[in-house]
Amino acid sequence: MERCNQSAISHSTKMNGRCSLCSSENVQLKRSHIVPAWAYKRMCNWGRSPSVPIVVEDDRAFFSSRQMRRYLLCGPCEQRIGKSERYVAPLTFTHSHVSRLVGLARDPARSYQYPGSFRARVAVPADINCEMIGRFGVSVIWRMAVWKQIDQDASRSFLGPYHEPLRLYLLGVAPFPPQCAIHLHVVDPTLQESRNYCAIVAYPAGGRSGPFHIHQFFILGLYFQLYVGKAVYEGLHLACLVHGTPPVYFLTDPRDIGTLVACRDVFQHSQVVGNARELLKLPSQD
Ligand SMILES: [Zn+2]
Repeated sequence: MERCNQSAISHSTKMNGRCSLCSSENVQLKRSHIVPAWAYKRMCNWGRSPSVPIVVEDDRAFFSSRQMRRYLLCGPCEQRIGKSERYVAPLTFTHSHVSRLVGLARDPARSYQYPGSFRARVAVPADINCEMIGRFGVSVIWRMAVWKQIDQDASRSFLGPYHEPLRLYLLGVAPFPPQCAIHLHVVDPTLQESRNYCAIVAYPAGGRSGPFHIHQFFILGLYFQLYVGKAVYEGLHLACLVHGTPPVYFLTDPRDIGTLVACRDVFQHSQVVGNARELLKLPSQD
Protein backbone atom coordinates (compact mmCIF):
# COMPACT_ATOMS: atom_id res chain seq x y z
CA MET A 1 0.00 0.00 0.00
CA GLU A 2 1.29 3.45 -0.88
CA ARG A 3 2.26 5.64 1.99
CA CYS A 4 2.66 9.31 1.35
CA ASN A 5 3.33 12.40 3.35
CA GLN A 6 0.21 14.48 2.75
CA SER A 7 1.64 17.70 4.10
CA ALA A 8 4.56 17.54 1.73
CA ILE A 9 2.39 17.31 -1.39
CA SER A 10 0.88 20.41 -2.90
CA HIS A 11 -2.66 20.42 -4.30
CA SER A 12 -1.38 20.54 -7.85
CA THR A 13 0.92 17.52 -7.50
CA LYS A 14 -0.26 14.38 -9.25
CA MET A 15 0.06 11.27 -7.17
CA ASN A 16 0.36 7.83 -8.70
CA GLY A 17 0.03 4.67 -6.71
CA ARG A 18 -2.17 1.70 -5.91
CA CYS A 19 -5.91 2.30 -5.62
CA SER A 20 -7.08 1.00 -2.24
CA LEU A 21 -10.45 -0.08 -3.62
CA CYS A 22 -9.83 -1.73 -7.01
CA SER A 23 -6.12 -2.48 -6.35
CA SER A 24 -5.06 -1.10 -9.76
CA GLU A 25 -1.34 -0.33 -9.67
CA ASN A 26 0.36 2.88 -10.74
CA VAL A 27 -2.86 4.82 -11.39
CA GLN A 28 -3.45 8.48 -10.70
CA LEU A 29 -4.97 8.78 -7.24
CA LYS A 30 -7.53 11.34 -6.11
CA ARG A 31 -7.42 13.09 -2.76
CA SER A 32 -10.29 11.21 -1.17
CA HIS A 33 -12.32 12.40 1.80
CA ILE A 34 -13.23 10.22 4.77
CA VAL A 35 -16.57 12.00 4.98
CA PRO A 36 -17.99 13.79 1.93
CA ALA A 37 -17.11 17.42 1.28
CA TRP A 38 -20.81 18.39 1.41
CA ALA A 39 -20.96 17.38 5.09
CA TYR A 40 -18.05 19.65 5.89
CA LYS A 41 -19.63 22.57 3.99
CA ARG A 42 -22.93 22.13 5.81
CA MET A 43 -21.19 22.17 9.17
CA CYS A 44 -19.44 25.42 8.19
CA ASN A 45 -22.74 27.00 7.13
CA TRP A 46 -24.85 25.81 10.04
CA GLY A 47 -24.99 29.10 11.92
CA ARG A 48 -26.17 32.51 10.77
CA SER A 49 -22.73 33.24 9.32
CA PRO A 50 -20.09 30.89 7.92
CA SER A 51 -17.95 29.38 10.64
CA VAL A 52 -15.07 26.99 11.18
CA PRO A 53 -15.90 23.62 12.74
CA ILE A 54 -14.55 22.73 16.15
CA VAL A 55 -12.59 19.50 16.16
CA VAL A 56 -12.62 17.47 19.35
CA GLU A 57 -9.59 15.21 19.60
CA ASP A 58 -8.53 13.39 22.74
CA ASP A 59 -9.18 15.93 25.52
CA ARG A 60 -8.69 19.03 23.41
CA ALA A 61 -10.99 21.03 21.17
CA PHE A 62 -9.82 23.44 18.50
CA PHE A 63 -11.04 25.28 15.44
CA SER A 64 -9.90 23.64 12.23
CA SER A 65 -10.55 24.22 8.57
CA ARG A 66 -8.67 21.00 7.87
CA GLN A 67 -10.59 18.27 6.07
CA MET A 68 -9.38 14.69 6.29
CA ARG A 69 -8.22 13.89 2.78
CA ARG A 70 -5.70 11.45 1.44
CA TYR A 71 -4.64 9.89 -1.84
CA LEU A 72 -6.61 6.65 -1.63
CA LEU A 73 -8.70 5.98 -4.72
CA CYS A 74 -8.43 6.15 -8.49
CA GLY A 75 -10.91 8.26 -10.49
CA PRO A 76 -13.40 5.45 -11.33
CA CYS A 77 -13.43 4.26 -7.70
CA GLU A 78 -13.96 7.82 -6.47
CA GLN A 79 -17.00 7.92 -8.79
CA ARG A 80 -18.15 4.54 -7.51
CA ILE A 81 -18.07 5.74 -3.89
CA GLY A 82 -19.52 9.13 -4.87
CA LYS A 83 -22.76 7.55 -6.08
CA SER A 84 -23.87 6.58 -2.56
CA GLU A 85 -22.57 9.89 -1.16
CA ARG A 86 -24.83 11.79 -3.57
CA TYR A 87 -27.78 9.60 -2.62
CA VAL A 88 -27.36 10.24 1.10
CA ALA A 89 -26.65 14.00 0.83
CA PRO A 90 -30.32 15.10 0.60
CA LEU A 91 -31.29 12.69 3.40
CA THR A 92 -29.16 14.37 6.07
CA PHE A 93 -30.23 17.38 8.13
CA THR A 94 -29.29 20.94 7.30
CA HIS A 95 -29.69 24.03 9.48
CA SER A 96 -33.08 24.72 7.83
CA HIS A 97 -34.22 21.27 6.78
CA VAL A 98 -35.26 18.13 8.65
CA SER A 99 -34.37 14.85 6.96
CA ARG A 100 -37.15 13.29 4.90
CA LEU A 101 -36.40 10.05 6.71
CA VAL A 102 -38.01 11.54 9.84
CA GLY A 103 -41.42 12.04 8.19
CA LEU A 104 -41.40 8.54 6.74
CA ALA A 105 -40.63 7.06 10.15
CA ARG A 106 -43.51 8.99 11.76
CA ASP A 107 -46.02 7.67 9.25
CA PRO A 108 -47.96 4.93 11.12
CA ALA A 109 -48.44 3.04 7.88
CA ARG A 110 -44.69 2.74 7.40
CA SER A 111 -43.38 2.35 10.90
CA TYR A 112 -43.89 0.71 14.27
CA GLN A 113 -42.65 1.20 17.81
CA TYR A 114 -39.55 -0.81 18.61
CA PRO A 115 -40.44 -3.43 21.23
CA GLY A 116 -39.08 -3.01 24.75
CA SER A 117 -37.88 0.14 26.41
CA PHE A 118 -35.76 1.44 23.52
CA ARG A 119 -37.15 4.82 22.49
CA ALA A 120 -37.16 4.29 18.77
CA ARG A 121 -39.50 3.80 15.89
CA VAL A 122 -38.61 1.45 13.08
CA ALA A 123 -39.34 2.64 9.56
CA VAL A 124 -39.94 0.41 6.57
CA PRO A 125 -39.48 2.77 3.65
CA ALA A 126 -40.46 1.14 0.37
CA ASP A 127 -39.38 4.11 -1.74
CA ILE A 128 -35.98 4.62 -0.10
CA ASN A 129 -32.93 2.76 -1.37
CA CYS A 130 -31.73 1.39 1.95
CA GLU A 131 -28.97 -0.63 0.33
CA MET A 132 -27.50 2.58 -1.08
CA ILE A 133 -27.62 4.23 2.35
CA GLY A 134 -25.96 1.17 3.87
CA ARG A 135 -23.31 1.20 1.16
CA PHE A 136 -22.53 4.80 2.06
CA GLY A 137 -22.16 3.91 5.74
CA VAL A 138 -19.87 0.99 4.94
CA SER A 139 -17.77 3.13 2.58
CA VAL A 140 -17.05 5.76 5.25
CA ILE A 141 -15.99 3.16 7.82
CA TRP A 142 -13.95 1.21 5.26
CA ARG A 143 -12.14 4.39 4.15
CA MET A 144 -11.27 5.14 7.76
CA ALA A 145 -9.91 1.59 8.11
CA VAL A 146 -7.66 2.11 5.07
CA TRP A 147 -6.59 5.51 6.37
CA LYS A 148 -5.64 4.19 9.81
CA GLN A 149 -3.81 1.25 8.32
CA ILE A 150 -1.66 3.63 6.29
CA ASP A 151 -1.21 6.03 9.19
CA GLN A 152 -0.14 3.35 11.61
CA ASP A 153 1.80 1.39 8.99
CA ALA A 154 -0.22 -1.58 10.20
CA SER A 155 -0.37 -4.93 8.47
CA ARG A 156 -3.95 -5.43 9.60
CA SER A 157 -7.05 -3.25 9.24
CA PHE A 158 -9.32 -2.64 12.23
CA LEU A 159 -11.98 -4.45 10.19
CA GLY A 160 -9.87 -7.60 10.50
CA PRO A 161 -10.88 -10.45 8.17
CA TYR A 162 -13.90 -8.43 7.00
CA HIS A 163 -11.82 -5.70 5.39
CA GLU A 164 -11.41 -7.62 2.13
CA PRO A 165 -15.04 -8.83 1.78
CA LEU A 166 -16.22 -5.26 2.44
CA ARG A 167 -13.77 -3.94 -0.18
CA LEU A 168 -15.22 -6.39 -2.74
CA TYR A 169 -18.75 -5.34 -1.75
CA LEU A 170 -17.92 -1.66 -2.26
CA LEU A 171 -16.24 -2.53 -5.54
CA GLY A 172 -19.53 -4.09 -6.66
CA VAL A 173 -18.20 -7.61 -7.27
CA ALA A 174 -19.47 -9.36 -4.11
CA PRO A 175 -22.58 -9.24 -1.91
CA PHE A 176 -22.62 -7.58 1.49
CA PRO A 177 -20.86 -10.09 3.80
CA PRO A 178 -23.30 -12.30 5.74
CA GLN A 179 -21.27 -11.74 8.95
CA CYS A 180 -21.92 -7.98 8.84
CA ALA A 181 -24.94 -5.78 9.57
CA ILE A 182 -25.21 -2.04 8.92
CA HIS A 183 -27.75 -0.06 10.95
CA LEU A 184 -28.99 3.50 10.60
CA HIS A 185 -30.42 5.61 13.42
CA VAL A 186 -31.96 8.92 12.39
CA VAL A 187 -32.08 11.51 15.17
CA ASP A 188 -35.63 12.27 16.23
CA PRO A 189 -35.66 16.09 16.13
CA THR A 190 -38.67 16.41 18.43
CA LEU A 191 -36.50 17.26 21.42
CA GLN A 192 -35.23 20.81 21.60
CA GLU A 193 -31.62 19.75 22.06
CA SER A 194 -31.79 17.33 19.13
CA ARG A 195 -31.14 20.10 16.64
CA ASN A 196 -27.68 20.58 18.10
CA TYR A 197 -26.87 16.95 17.44
CA CYS A 198 -27.72 17.37 13.78
CA ALA A 199 -24.77 19.72 13.26
CA ILE A 200 -22.18 17.14 14.35
CA VAL A 201 -19.87 14.94 12.30
CA ALA A 202 -18.07 12.27 14.34
CA TYR A 203 -15.46 10.23 12.47
CA PRO A 204 -15.66 6.44 12.56
CA ALA A 205 -14.52 4.76 15.74
CA GLY A 206 -15.26 1.45 17.33
CA GLY A 207 -14.03 -1.76 18.81
CA ARG A 208 -15.06 -4.99 20.38
CA SER A 209 -18.46 -5.12 22.03
CA GLY A 210 -19.05 -8.54 23.52
CA PRO A 211 -18.80 -11.25 20.89
CA PHE A 212 -18.52 -8.94 17.87
CA HIS A 213 -17.10 -5.56 16.82
CA ILE A 214 -19.10 -2.37 16.30
CA HIS A 215 -17.79 0.55 14.22
CA GLN A 216 -19.83 3.73 14.18
CA PHE A 217 -19.91 7.29 12.96
CA PHE A 218 -22.29 10.19 12.99
CA ILE A 219 -23.01 12.60 10.17
CA LEU A 220 -25.52 15.46 10.37
CA GLY A 221 -28.35 13.64 12.11
CA LEU A 222 -27.60 10.16 10.79
CA TYR A 223 -25.86 7.63 13.01
CA PHE A 224 -24.39 4.51 11.39
CA GLN A 225 -23.33 1.33 13.13
CA LEU A 226 -21.51 -1.49 11.37
CA TYR A 227 -21.54 -4.81 13.23
CA VAL A 228 -18.93 -7.36 12.15
CA GLY A 229 -18.21 -10.88 13.30
CA LYS A 230 -19.50 -14.42 13.18
CA ALA A 231 -21.51 -13.72 16.35
CA VAL A 232 -23.68 -11.05 14.67
CA TYR A 233 -27.08 -12.58 15.35
CA GLU A 234 -30.34 -12.72 13.44
CA GLY A 235 -31.92 -9.78 15.28
CA LEU A 236 -29.11 -7.50 14.08
CA HIS A 237 -29.51 -8.75 10.52
CA LEU A 238 -33.26 -8.09 10.64
CA ALA A 239 -32.56 -4.41 11.41
CA CYS A 240 -29.89 -4.17 8.69
CA LEU A 241 -30.17 -1.68 5.84
CA VAL A 242 -28.99 -4.38 3.44
CA HIS A 243 -29.94 -7.78 4.91
CA GLY A 244 -33.22 -6.77 6.56
CA THR A 245 -36.34 -8.33 5.06
CA PRO A 246 -37.56 -5.68 4.58
CA PRO A 247 -34.63 -3.34 5.19
CA VAL A 248 -35.34 -0.85 7.98
CA TYR A 249 -33.88 2.08 9.87
CA PHE A 250 -34.59 3.60 13.29
CA LEU A 251 -35.91 6.99 14.35
CA THR A 252 -34.12 7.36 17.66
CA ASP A 253 -34.03 9.64 20.66
CA PRO A 254 -30.49 11.06 20.57
CA ARG A 255 -30.16 10.50 24.31
CA ASP A 256 -30.01 6.79 23.49
CA ILE A 257 -27.06 7.22 21.13
CA GLY A 258 -23.94 6.87 23.21
CA THR A 259 -21.65 8.47 20.64
CA LEU A 260 -23.70 11.66 20.65
CA VAL A 261 -23.79 11.86 24.41
CA ALA A 262 -20.02 11.32 24.41
CA CYS A 263 -19.53 14.08 21.80
CA ARG A 264 -21.53 16.51 23.90
CA ASP A 265 -19.78 15.52 27.11
CA VAL A 266 -16.30 15.72 25.58
CA PHE A 267 -17.08 19.09 24.09
CA GLN A 268 -18.53 20.46 27.32
CA HIS A 269 -15.45 19.37 29.24
CA SER A 270 -12.93 20.47 26.63
CA GLN A 271 -11.31 23.82 26.34
CA VAL A 272 -10.92 25.47 22.95
CA VAL A 273 -7.17 25.94 22.86
CA GLY A 274 -6.61 27.60 19.52
CA ASN A 275 -6.37 27.21 15.83
CA ALA A 276 -5.41 23.80 14.49
CA ARG A 277 -2.90 25.25 12.06
CA GLU A 278 -0.90 26.66 14.96
CA LEU A 279 -1.56 23.73 17.24
CA LEU A 280 -0.38 21.10 14.80
CA LYS A 281 2.12 23.38 13.06
CA LEU A 282 0.54 22.58 9.70
CA PRO A 283 2.27 24.05 6.68
CA SER A 284 0.48 26.89 4.95
CA GLN A 285 -1.64 25.78 2.00
CA ASP A 286 -1.87 29.25 0.48
ZN1 LIG B 1 -9.70 2.15 -8.14
